[in-house]
Amino acid sequence: MTGIYKLTGTLQQYAWGGENYIPNLIQFPAQAKQTYAEWWLGAHNSSPSQIEFNGTSMPLNQFLNEHPNVVYGEKSAVKNRQVLGDELPYLLKILDVKQPLSIQLHPTKAQAEIGFAKENAQGIALTDPKRTYKDRNHKPEMMIALSDFWLLHGFKTKAKILDSLRSRHSLQALATQLETQDLRQFYTAVMQANQAQLAEWLLPILAQQNADKLPLNDPDYWVQYSQQAMNIPLDKLDAGLMCFYLFNIVEVKQGEGIFQDAGIPHAYLRGQNIELMACSDNVIRGGLTPKHVDIAELLKVIDCREVVPELIPVATENQTEFTYHTPAKDFALATIRYNPQNNLANNIQGKTQNGSILLVMQGEIALKSKTAQKDTALSTAELTLKQGQSAFICADTEYEITGMQTGYAVLAKLPE
Ligand SMILES: [Zn+2]
Repeated sequence: MTGIYKLTGTLQQYAWGGENYIPNLIQFPAQAKQTYAEWWLGAHNSSPSQIEFNGTSMPLNQFLNEHPNVVYGEKSAVKNRQVLGDELPYLLKILDVKQPLSIQLHPTKAQAEIGFAKENAQGIALTDPKRTYKDRNHKPEMMIALSDFWLLHGFKTKAKILDSLRSRHSLQALATQLETQDLRQFYTAVMQANQAQLAEWLLPILAQQNADKLPLNDPDYWVQYSQQAMNIPLDKLDAGLMCFYLFNIVEVKQGEGIFQDAGIPHAYLRGQNIELMACSDNVIRGGLTPKHVDIAELLKVIDCREVVPELIPVATENQTEFTYHTPAKDFALATIRYNPQNNLANNIQGKTQNGSILLVMQGEIALKSKTAQKDTALSTAELTLKQGQSAFICADTEYEITGMQTGYAVLAKLPE
């Protein structure tokens, strides 16, 4: 079976989300005092999108179970199933990060399989807050910034960490300690520090109260800001605050992307983005959270190598179609631009190799399925999609996008 079908995402109203960005983008009325953190498009069992099919609406995971040949195209089905499994391998999200998120990292596939089996054997329920591995999958992820976006990403070079520590009076003793340690030993010690140690390091920095005068790439800014925004009590300081001196503070400009591989510690701090990841919920927390931090598991999975952040450059205005390049085999993200005033750039034709999700970010399009149907009664031949609306395009479907109002869409797919 091939074809195009209207898809509707699901909301996640976590407390760190903003009030208006997602309602404005997806176009539904925002309610007072509600937070809208994430909009999900995919088949994750915990919150599947709804697909309109044959005159009814059903969860996408159920639809894919009933029509397994729409995820992978004929050419690559056997290989993809071996590598990626039977399910839709990716999850597309819009995030509105108003408050900083916890520092986190994600396991490799091998680590996830071992961890999941171990927690099952220990009888820890999937819903238990102490459960770390919710499934057997890894979770590489990429993001494209929809605003100026700030995040923590990987360890800085040791030289840069030493600079950060030496230039702050209360952290100078730590610099001396790091001179004789590698990053893993040093990080382990910092994460296991007691309240008295954290107070000695952090209270003098928090007491400065000069965040409004500091540039956003200054760790002191984020220490002061996060303590206030996350209401971290001064007598219960979070060791995660120290990570602003250890990890890269990265600014991703609108349209630029960044990729987080297994083991790379990261934390989203502020802004809006599009996130595309392997379909998994395996998160190992590393601070900036009141939730359980499993230090032993964290140290097992964290990649302590020095990272120089690599940004994926922005698509240029005159590129009709642009695919952001990452090493992930589970997903690829493309942007598609259309402009009814310019005939040359307003008729985009393509053929999916595998099941894909299209989300209109701006403007309006007509999306046509051009593939001859064996079971035409079941197929939607044309959809009109406005900003915030989306569609599932089955594998091996020829499609045509015509812009009705200028804008762009994103297409989540597999690398070709
Ligand atoms: Zn993550």
